[in-house]
This record gives sequence, structure tokens and C-alpha cells, in this order.
Amino acid sequence: MSTNKTKSNETFYPGPSRNHLAAFPPKERWDDWTELDSRAWPKRVERHYSLVPTTCFNCESACGLLAYIDKVTGQVQKFEGNPEHPGSRGRNCAKGPATLNQVTDPDRILYPLKRTGKRGEGKWERVTWDQALDDIATRIRRAIVEDRRHEIMYHVGRPGEDGFTERILAAWGVDGHNSHTNICSSGSREGYQLWMGLDRPSPDHANAKVILLISAHLESGHYFNPHAQRVIDGKTNGAKLIVFDTRLSHTATHADYWVSPYPGSEPAILLSIANYIIQNNLYNREFVETWWNWREYLELVEGSKGKDFRSFEEALKDLYKQYTFEFAAAESDVDAKVIEEIAKLVATAGSRFSSHNWRSAASGVSGGWSVARCLFMINALLGAIATEGGVYPNAWNKFVPRPIYMPPHPEMWNETTWPREYPLSMNEMSFLLPHLLLEGRAKVDVYFTRVYNPVWTNPDGFSWIEMLTDPKLIGCYVALTPTWNETAFFADYVLPMGVGSERHDLHSYETHDSQWLGFRQPVIKAARQRAGEDVDDTREVNPGEVWEENEFWLELTWRIDPTGSLGIRQYAESKRLPATRLSVDEYYEWIFDNSVPGLPEKAAEEDLTPLEFMRRYGAFEVKRNIGRVFDQPVGDDELFDTREDYWGRVFSRAPKPAGPNIVPLPVPDGDAEGRRFAGVRINESVKRGFPTPSGRLEFFSRTLAEWGWPELAIPTYFRSHVHPENLEKDETILISTFRLPVQIHTRSANSKWLDEIAHTNPLWIHPSHAATLGVKTGALVRVETEIGHFVVPAWVTEGIKPGIVACSHHMGRWKLRDDDGQRQMMATVKLDHNGTNWGLRRESGIAPYDSSDPDTLRIWWKDAGVHQNMTFPVHPDPISGMHCWHQAVKVRAAKPDDKPGDISVDTAKSREVYRKWLAMTRPADTYSPDRTRRPYWMLRPLKPAREYYKLPDEIDGE
Ligand code: SF4
Repeated sequence: MSTNKTKSNETFYPGPSRNHLAAFPPKERWDDWTELDSRAWPKRVERHYSLVPTTCFNCESACGLLAYIDKVTGQVQKFEGNPEHPGSRGRNCAKGPATLNQVTDPDRILYPLKRTGKRGEGKWERVTWDQALDDIATRIRRAIVEDRRHEIMYHVGRPGEDGFTERILAAWGVDGHNSHTNICSSGSREGYQLWMGLDRPSPDHANAKVILLISAHLESGHYFNPHAQRVIDGKTNGAKLIVFDTRLSHTATHADYWVSPYPGSEPAILLSIANYIIQNNLYNREFVETWWNWREYLELVEGSKGKDFRSFEEALKDLYKQYTFEFAAAESDVDAKVIEEIAKLVATAGSRFSSHNWRSAASGVSGGWSVARCLFMINALLGAIATEGGVYPNAWNKFVPRPIYMPPHPEMWNETTWPREYPLSMNEMSFLLPHLLLEGRAKVDVYFTRVYNPVWTNPDGFSWIEMLTDPKLIGCYVALTPTWNETAFFADYVLPMGVGSERHDLHSYETHDSQWLGFRQPVIKAARQRAGEDVDDTREVNPGEVWEENEFWLELTWRIDPTGSLGIRQYAESKRLPATRLSVDEYYEWIFDNSVPGLPEKAAEEDLTPLEFMRRYGAFEVKRNIGRVFDQPVGDDELFDTREDYWGRVFSRAPKPAGPNIVPLPVPDGDAEGRRFAGVRINESVKRGFPTPSGRLEFFSRTLAEWGWPELAIPTYFRSHVHPENLEKDETILISTFRLPVQIHTRSANSKWLDEIAHTNPLWIHPSHAATLGVKTGALVRVETEIGHFVVPAWVTEGIKPGIVACSHHMGRWKLRDDDGQRQMMATVKLDHNGTNWGLRRESGIAPYDSSDPDTLRIWWKDAGVHQNMTFPVHPDPISGMHCWHQAVKVRAAKPDDKPGDISVDTAKSREVYRKWLAMTRPADTYSPDRTRRPYWMLRPLKPAREYYKLPDEIDGE
């Protein structure tokens, strides 16, 4: 370490943190970092730390953290940012450092628990891991042997990893993956996928000229902190920021243009911007001509065979001329002049137009996927795709290394998660599970939840309780969780899992135009290994008997097939020591040695093994400046015995080169003679193109047209379920989707620093609206939904559009008994139940209590907010499958007996609403053009073998 320079214009040491004026401890001193003990002040008492990286497991960004492990106590003193992490670059939001609260949380679950009373009765006994594993493994083995594999289901909220558990399920031969995504982000994912075959954008905000966000990225968006810091970089560089949000979010406060549209009208505004660009010939003509599938549109829709691009340009002008600024203003209630100003600004951006739609309107309204589709159309018009300052397709900015084993695709199709009514659904129809089971379609014998709390998070939570408390529907429910939650109360097993500093995971996210790999690790284990100790199992270093999931899944897999006779055990077996279980160290060592280009060489420069390098720095940048992948020529080695079809798609018999990056790309169909799709003909060369059926950007979605939705096959605005014409006179719209910046669903209630900052969720209501109800800030209101109501205090604010109300879903955590659960953020409630009528009433709020943490005696807040999601019926979008969160409600002044937090629901009404929305679908049975359940090219977690895409009557023997 010889580079400790002091002049202000010189770097402190040669590492990534040189960009940050030495705000971070130099990596050369991470083995022994010294700070003065603040508690000893004014004495200068030194404390020595090992600095060990991991990644945050609060939101989905997985920012780098650096654990300061005290060399005397061996415990984590604090978490700060990891400057070596290419995505977060040393920066975190408040939730990152609060990981420490989760480690020391006095209410956390420390030992495996098994239910002894009835489900939900709160009676538990402590069991050993061996007892739990053997019992669960036996059940799973029996289901597999008896060919009841569809009765095994793993339901994940925040995965926090790239594919480990999906491969475990594949090893079991089970199509049992269920995700939360259809209550989260699948609306926008569907819109992006329809255009480019990939479901997320990777915007280059830092280099943009104009940034348009339909999201709250400065406080809570997807890949929030990494993107937020790059939005601010862009603004610092002179970019103009446009934000669409009905509510004055923190992001909106930083905008140059904040527009507050009527919810669901966003596509009308976006198409008016597109129309301005089209009518004034301001689009990138060469890009559109080369990369849009306009020929398909002309021939298949307009019947104009052989017409040229000029014909398409005329058609485009004609198609979009209806989307005037005045039309958009009438639909959105945003001034036409403001929209026109924005359109003119956007048109100046050229290829430096970055945009993002995350949740927001796309997750709120029926047809919300159209928000992302219409937003991305502007990028596609400007040619701002995979350009500096534009938007990159996510999969190209992501690196998922090939693991030690790749089990085959399951040979089955799970109808419970992928029912045939939703053939184009972006993800599993997870939030319909109670309805599907309660109407007798299936049962689940072993049901896992992981980082997931559907009773509280999903709409219609009482239907979840009805399902979970019926042993005929759920045979055995296993909750994998670090902390108590509303769903785990109804489990058979509650198994304690590690938080972000107590477990291993690998991940890579599209934070900017690069590919990086982040490594989450148990920091105390890594510190001890650095000091020369052997630590085999995370239970040796974690509190109580807290385990990590990697080890848990490997051990469970081993016990399901102890002799190897089922062919399952091989995927959990050590290569180094055959007939013994694969260790987590060997698993990651294999990946880092074999699958990450450049890592072994980089590690060798520091005389480290690749695993030691990742343990030391926690992240590795695989590649920078990925660029325009679609425009790359396909190499001759990939072109053998080729055939080119009428649309210019080129098929080849050369096998696809197996690279180390296994990012799951959609697979465009091959040709009828068994060749695979290789690229598209562009003039004299074959280019990689996009992973869509046409190989180009799909202005026209042949998939939508052929699967029953021809009227929506091009980007279109259509009125949503909350359009004014669909509301009754006294109804308003409730927006419930926004996050609080310092909370993160279930995961953060055990973070005392965060709870102190944010512990309430009043109903945002405009003064003009509040006046009609005669309510002031703090007064209680009753919000009536289609299936019940909740009672919440009002917050009168001009930060919300008049006539719309909003309430963050982050609050309202509850527990059924004083001592079970998280006492810093969960109120104790009484659960009432009579037939299909359910209710919750708060019995006590938050109060100081005695614990191992003296701070719990200093708790001053009493509120825990109001749980609203339980009063929402399910609203599955018939195309994307996304739950459409916005809803028509009636807001009234509270009744005399109403108390904050009161909830009332009739689940018979839940069932009616479920059936009403189910009737809007266009099922595969009727609409599939090829007797399959789903277009094979579309993304799907844990894809089954292709044969099982066929509808049952098409499969031999079924
Ligand atoms: S919670 Fe904050 S620190 Fe943690 S990953 Fe998300 S943005 Fe990063």
C-alpha cells in the first residue's frame, strides 16, 4: 500500500473508489481497518475491523455492502457501502446499513419450529433440522414416486439469486416454481417483451439528454439505488427529467416536468408524443426501416404484399393521427400545451432518450402492459435502443454464470400456476392460487414460501387464510423466513433463514451497460476463513440455528433421494468427493473457476483463487460497454446449412455456441426442418437481431394477433377498468402500489432504524376532495372496496390529483398474539370469522418492551399503519396476468364505531370478482393457433420440456 497521497486532486488509492475522493476504506487495508471507538470519546481507543463484502437483501437491487467485523468480538459492528461493486459503486439507501438491525433483531426466529396446535393457533415446538428435513423430504419423495409432482410448489417473493432454486426444482423434475411477479411487475415486463423479446429495460440515464420515468426510481424503483444515482448523474450532466406520476413522489419533486395523469391514461399521452414524432418525420427513419417488423404488419394486417417502407410510413401516420395532444389531454386531464412541450423536448433527445416504466401504472390498470409498450415505442422511433444515453435490453446487461450442474427441463406442466386461461401471462398466476384450489382444480401437498408473505402482500388475504387452514388443500406448509410474518403464522414448519449477511447468493442486474456479478456471502464465515479457520456450515456462525438456503436445498435434495435411485441426488453431489453432498464452497468455487471470463486471471494478479477474490471483493465486472448486440454480425461458425425464410429470418444447423452466460433468453422458433433461429438478414449480412418471433422489434405482435387479441396487436391506447366511464358516480380510484423509501414489504419490519422513520400510511386525499367529505388530516375515513372495507386516517395534501386517493401498501403489519411476531412494527389484532365474513380489529399498537436490545425500551411510536391489501379482490389482467392494483372505491367519513386498522371482507364476494375477471380471458383451449398452452418463445421461469407445451389432448397418452 504505497499510494496514500494527500493532494486533493490525486487518488487515494488505485481502485474503483478513486472516483469518490477516498470516501471508502482502501481495499488494501480491508484485513485490518482501524477506526476510533465513538463510545470511548474523548479517549482515542482504536477498534480493528476485518472488512468483508456481501450484498444487501432488502430490495431487488442487491447493492454491495461492506461488513465491519470487529476483530475482538467477531461480530458485525456496522454495514456500509462496498466501493468495489460496479452496480451500486459504494452507495446504499437507508435499508442497506439497516441490515444490522435484522441481524440483531430480538424477535427473529432462531430455531426450526413445528406446529403443535391447529394451523394459526400459535402453538409451536422446537424441532431439530434433521427432524424437519426428514419429514419434508419423505413427503416430497412420496409425491414424486406416486407421480403427484404437481403437488409440490415453491413460492418465492424476492428471489435475490439467479436461478439456484429453479435448478433445484428442475433436479426434482418438478414444474413447481411460483413467483410473486404477477403482483409486482409483470405488466411492464409484458409490454417490453412484446417489443423486444426481453422483459426489462437497462436505461443509460447517466448519458441521456432526456429521461422519462413512469416509476419512482429516485426512491424505490427496480434496481433503485443503482439507477437513482445514474439518474442524478444524468441530471448533473444536463439531462431533463420528465416524470409521470399521479402522486407527487420524491422522484416527481426532482423532475423538470411532473405530470399527474388520470390513472391508466399514460398510453394516450405516450402515443400523442409518438404521433408528434411520426407526423413531423422526427423519427430515426433508417432504424425503423431496418429493425421494425413493418413488412409483417403491412402484409398480414393491411394485406399490402410487396409494398415498400414509404407505404408503411403513410400507414403509420394514418394509424396514429388520432392521438392528438387534445385527445391525450381529454383522457389524462393533463394540459395539452404541457404534453406538447414534453413531446418537443423528447423529440430533441434523438438516441439519447432513456426511459423506464416500473410498476406504477403498468401494475395498476387493466391493459397496464400497454404503458411499457407505448413508452418503448418512443425509444423504438428515436432509435434510442442500445445507444449511449438510450435503453439497453436487460439480458445483454446481465451475467448469469453456468453452474456446476444444469438439470433438464421438467417433463410436466403445472396447471395450477400456469392455467390455460392465461396463455400469454408473463408469470405464474400466483395470486389466484386460493381460488384455483378452493374451486377444486388441484391440491398442494408440500408448499414452500420463501421471502414471501402472501396473506399480507397479495390481494384478498382472507382467501389465502381459507386455503392455508384447509389441510385438504395444503398438505404441509413450510415457511422459509428470517422473521415472523402473517403467512408463517399458518405454517406447519417455520424454518429460520439467514438475512443478507448470513447466506450465499449470486446475482447480476441491469444497472447500466455492463455485465457484473455480485456475490452475497455469510460475512462471519468469510472473515473466519480469511483468518485461516474452517467453517463448513453457516449454522456454525449464524445466530441460533439460522441456516442459509443454498445448504438447506442441497441437503433436502440429498435426503429426497438418498440412494440416487430417482436420479435426483446426482445434482447435489460433490464432483470432488463423489458420494458425498456438494458443499457450498465447491459449488461457488466451480462457477468462479470455470464460468466467469476474466475472473481467474484477475484473481491471479492478486495471488488469490477466484473464490478467494470473490470472498474478498464481493463483485466482479465481467464486461463493460456491451453495446448493440442486435446489430452484431453472426459469425460463420454459427451458420451452417442455412435457410432464409420469406421474412428474412435465417435458420442454421450449426449448434448455438455454449457461452458461460446463461441469461435465459426467449427462444424464437426454429424452422420446420429442425434448424435453429440464428439471426435476420440485413442487407448483405446476417445480424443477431432480437429474440422475438420475427427477430426484429415487434411493432406488430403476431403473437397477440394469433392468440386472440388482433385488436391490440400494435401499440394502442384502450380504456382501463378504472376509466371514468367504468366508475359509478360516488366512486374514486385508490392507488395502493407505492412504496415508502425506507421500507420494503415484509422484509424491513425488523429494522428498528427504518421503523422509527416510517411507521404509518395515511390515505392521501386532495383538499377539495376532503372538503366534500368534511374530513381533515388525522380524521378517520372508511374506504369501501368491492369485497369489504378498511379504516384509515386521512392525510389532506395537494400532492395527489383531486378525486384520486392513495395509500402505501408498506404498512399495516399485524400479528395474532402479543408475543408472536415482530413487536417493533406489527400491531396485535383480533381475527373474526363467521362463514365467508372475516374481520380484523387492532387490539394493541406498538409499545416499548424489554429485550436483548435496550433500544426496544425506547420505542416511541405507537402506530403500525393500516393493512389494506386484504380488502382488495383479485384483478388478473386477461393478457399479462398482472394483478391490476388500482381499483374503484368509495371513500366516506368513518362511522362512530370505526377504529384505525379495522378490516372487513366477505370472501364470497372475492369469489364473484375472481369469476368476473376470469370470464374476460381468451383461453388457449379456444384461441391457441397451434394447440399449445403458450407461445414457446415467451419467457417463462423453469421452462418445461417442449413436449409439455402441448395441450393435454395433443400429448400422446394423455
Ligand atoms: S435496499 Fe437500498 S441498499 Fe439495499 S439493495 Fe435496495 S437500494 Fe440497495
